[in-house]
This record gives sequence, structure tokens and C-alpha cells, in this order.
Amino acid sequence: MKLSLNYAFFTILLLAACNPKPAVPIESPIEPLIKPVLKERPRNVILMIGDGMGLTQITAGMYRNGNKLHLEQFPIVGLHKPYSSNNLISDSAAAATAFASGVKTYNGAIGVKRDSTPVETILELAKANKLATGIVTTSTIVHATPAAFVAHNVSRNNFQEIALDIWGSDIDLIIGGGRKYFYKRKDGRNLIQELKDKNYAVSDYNDQRFEETVIDFDQKFAYFTAETDPKTVRRGRDYLPASARAAANFLDKRGEEGFFLMIEGAQIDWGGHAKNSEYIITEMLDFDEAIGNVIKFAQEDGETLVIVTADHETGGYSINPGSTMEKIIPGFNTDYHTATLIPVFAFGPGSELFGGTYENTAIYDKMKEAFGF
Ligand code: MG
Ligand code: ZN
Repeated sequence: MKLSLNYAFFTILLLAACNPKPAVPIESPIEPLIKPVLKERPRNVILMIGDGMGLTQITAGMYRNGNKLHLEQFPIVGLHKPYSSNNLISDSAAAATAFASGVKTYNGAIGVKRDSTPVETILELAKANKLATGIVTTSTIVHATPAAFVAHNVSRNNFQEIALDIWGSDIDLIIGGGRKYFYKRKDGRNLIQELKDKNYAVSDYNDQRFEETVIDFDQKFAYFTAETDPKTVRRGRDYLPASARAAANFLDKRGEEGFFLMIEGAQIDWGGHAKNSEYIITEMLDFDEAIGNVIKFAQEDGETLVIVTADHETGGYSINPGSTMEKIIPGFNTDYHTATLIPVFAFGPGSELFGGTYENTAIYDKMKEAFGF
């Protein structure tokens, strides 16, 4: 008896060693009591992703900001399940691919399925339907979250190949860091010049601050905010709220049939990795200011669906006993991501689809349904 138990134990150990990352693509067998029905189609969709923005990140930002956030204005709130195909703990690449293309894939995958084949993104679908498209981020433009909307690569680390995909995508607007991946390249190409050759107005942080940039609506637009990673808010980075509003205005003028825009507050996640509560809070409030500007645009426009969510939580961040609204005593369980459910906020035509609890991949399905693609 003892022998066979030991044998079973070692068999399990052996199986575990052969499968270090068990696949977890289990769709929930539970159906919602009432299936949400689309009432009105939006012309435009703005998807805002706070990287690493779990409920505690939102809460800490809210308390610090005098117990208020623009996020509180959203009438529809839902929850998504953030796990990836090979790990209960998702990374930003798999999560962004779930939002962009509606597939559960492996951590590190950029716009490719579990078998590494490319999968069409909502941005590409929008483009095919004559919509204008754009991406704004506070990370590099080749980083996992933005990349999954415009690029297809087996690994998030292939920055130069991702830059080539972005160049080839003919996206109408990009604002973010990572300029060097476009001209310091192994293949010798200068994609900044090649963007200009394709009638992009290209400028960067060396030329002028974003706010001083004059945007010509007759040309596509690329603004590089840094050679590599943009600065933190605390070190003076301030382009996100202004560029979020400018991007919506720009795409609204350019899109014959509407637009799709992804805006990322990337560094909430980096604050979590650094286990730095102040870093998280300043980035959270910067992202919320951008949210406020986008809400203003959507209210005036009346045809825009705004969705705000996160890819995953970062840090196992908590607000511990002894905290006050002014002074949070933070706790961190990890310097990596966690698998907790993630909130989804929606406003505008089509927002009714976003109440309830669903897979992260459903965000793609709902955006597609709202657009009518
Ligand atoms: Mg990101
Ligand atoms: Zn992260």
C-alpha cells in the first residue's frame, strides 16, 4: 500500500515536471441570468487599458484624490477573468491579445493563437471597415499591450519585428515611446523615414512637447515620446491626458465611418512590479485624468463607446489596517501579476453589453458586436 502510494506520488511529480505550465482554457459553464442586448451601435470605440490596474490600484488612487475618480461616472460595470491559455497568471501580451483578437493564448504571445498562427485584431477589422485607428501609450509603442493590437509575433520581446509590423499596419495615429526600435535596427532600415515616405507627420520629444505639436488632419500622425521607456509622471511625463483627447479628436476627423482607439496607462503596472505605492497612485491618477478627457469627448460626441479595464492586477497590492485616505499603508504579495477578477467600466452606445462577469476574450466579442462587424 505504501509502495503504491509512493509510486502514485512520483508519477504525479513526473507529470508536473513534464507540464510545468498546465493549460487552463476552461470556459465557465455558468450562463448569465439575462443576456445583455445591444440597443444602439456606436460609431467609435475607445478602449482604455490601465496595465496592472486592479481594484486596489483604483481604490488607492480614489482615496488619494479626495475620494473621487472620473471612473466612478461610468454607469455600467462588469468583471472579466484575466487568465491566459498556459498560466492562471496572465501577462500583458496574452491579455492584450485576448482583448484585441478574442483568443486565449500563451503568455508572451502578440496577436498569435496558441499554435503561433496570427489572428486578426479588432484594430485591423476596424481598418478593413474604413474606420480610422490609433494607439496611445505611456510605454514604448512596441510594448506588449499596444503591440497586440497591430502586430503578430510569437514573442513580445521581438521589438524590432514588432516595430516593422506597426510601420506596415498603416495605423492612422501612434503616440508613445520606443523611437529607437524604428531607426536603430539590425536590418539597417530607417522606419521613421519610411513612415514619412508613407505621408505620416512624424515628430518626437526632441522637436517639441506633445502639447506644442500642431496636428495636421490631412496626414497620418506619429509622435515618439522617448527613445525607450517614457518617464514616469513623477519625473515629469504629462502627455497622456492631452494626447488621449487629441487622439480622439484627430481620429474623429479622419474616420469616414468612425474610429477605434486604444489608450494605455502602462505604468500602473510598473509601479506594482516596483512594489511602489506612490508610483502606482500617481500613474493611476494620470490615467484617470485621461479617462476624464475621454468622457468629455464621448459626451459631446454622443456616438462613442468608452470601455476602461485592465489586463491583470500587479503586486497583490492591498490597503492595510492603519491606513487613512491621505496616507495609505500598502502591502504587496508579489512583484509580479495576480489572477484576481478585473473590473470593466463602460459608457456610451453599446455599453449595455459590458455588465456581468465574463472571460477577458469576451471584450473583443462585445466590441465586435457593438461595431456590427
Ligand atoms: Mg502594458
Ligand atoms: Zn506587468
